[in-house]
Amino acid sequence: MIEKVASAIDSFNAAHLESPVEVSRIKQKFGGLRIYHHNAPQDIRQLINEVVAASWRTCEKCGSTIGATTNLEGYRFTLCPDCRKEIKLRVIQKSKIHIQRINKTTS
Ligand SMILES: [Zn+2]
Repeated sequence: MIEKVASAIDSFNAAHLESPVEVSRIKQKFGGLRIYHHNAPQDIRQLINEVVAASWRTCEKCGSTIGATTNLEGYRFTLCPDCRKEIKLRVIQKSKIHIQRINKTTS
C-alpha cells in the first residue's frame, strides 16, 4: 500500500525538485494508516486518501482484504479473521500468564 504512495511521490519529486512532497511520518493509529505529508498536489493527496481508506479494510499482518475488521479487546488492529484468531489466542495466553503470576504473589 505504502509503495504505491512512495512511488507516486518519487515520480512527482523527480519532476518538481524545487517543491517536493515531504512525508514526515507514517504510522498505524487506531487500526488505520496515517501519512503525514506536506506540499502534496491534489492527485497525490487523493491517492493518500484512497490508501488510508483501504488500510481500514486490509489486514495489517498478511495484507488480506477478506473480512478484515478493526478492534480487539481494546487494542485497535485491522486484521482478517485468521490473523485475529492467532492474535486473540496470544492475548488470552498472555492474560493467563499474568493471572498465574498474580496468584503466585498473593498465595
Ligand atoms: Zn491476516
